[in-house]
Amino acid sequence: MIPADLKVWSAGVKAPEFLAHLDGLEVNRINQIVVNEYLQSSIDSDVFAFGDCAQFIPPGSDSPVPPRAQVASQQATVLAKSLIQMVNGKPLVQFIFKDKGSLISLSKHSSVGQIMGNLSGDFTFEGKLARLFYVTLYRLHQFAIHGYWKTALLIIRDVINRRTGPTMKLH
Ligand SMILES: Cc1cc2nc3c(=O)[nH]c(=O)nc-3n(C[C@H](O)[C@H](O)[C@H](O)COP(=O)(O)OP(=O)(O)OC[C@H]3O[C@@H](n4cnc5c(N)ncnc54)[C@H](O)[C@@H]3O)c2cc1C
Repeated sequence: MIPADLKVWSAGVKAPEFLAHLDGLEVNRINQIVVNEYLQSSIDSDVFAFGDCAQFIPPGSDSPVPPRAQVASQQATVLAKSLIQMVNGKPLVQFIFKDKGSLISLSKHSSVGQIMGNLSGDFTFEGKLARLFYVTLYRLHQFAIHGYWKTALLIIRDVINRRTGPTMKLH
């Protein structure tokens, strides 16, 4: 136990060790495969990488896109299109990161959010509105993965658990 008034837990991102030993692919110091704007590895254009295991530095930028769900999701969409293009002998789709903002959940008590907008400028909000956005986004993710019916069942299960479960962790 570490006695303290406030404890902050933080962790960095490191891609799995085996990526550094894949023969011939360039990786950075945290084992991410270095890719270009088409998500092709810098050494072999037939090898693609995306998400946390890839390092992509946008042209004209000094720093890589962050290892976040939004990046991984946008890259997955681009790559899904690119692979179909490739099979059909057409040009690959370029990945351009569109930062739509961030939402941070501070347990059920509070949330903070920032939406990036071209017309409205950046918009920061917190409290119940941020919490509503966070929960909506979470459910949309579940919907994308599980579909309508399973997500509906998951929502019902969560409501029942909240009503019937203990207010503190018992084990
Ligand atoms: C605690 C935590 C909180 C986070 N919070 C946020 C947040 O609030 N917002 C945000 O944008 N991002 C957040 N992130 C980051 C976000 O989760 C990642 O950026 C995102 O999940 C990356 O997606 P990915 O598909 O690249 O990797 P992952 O989602 O990690 O998917 C990789 C998959 O590969 C599987 N896998 C691994 N090794 C093997 C293997 N050898 N064989 C087969 N399968 C394998 C794994 O099981 C996993 O399912 C958080 C991450 C952590 C750890």
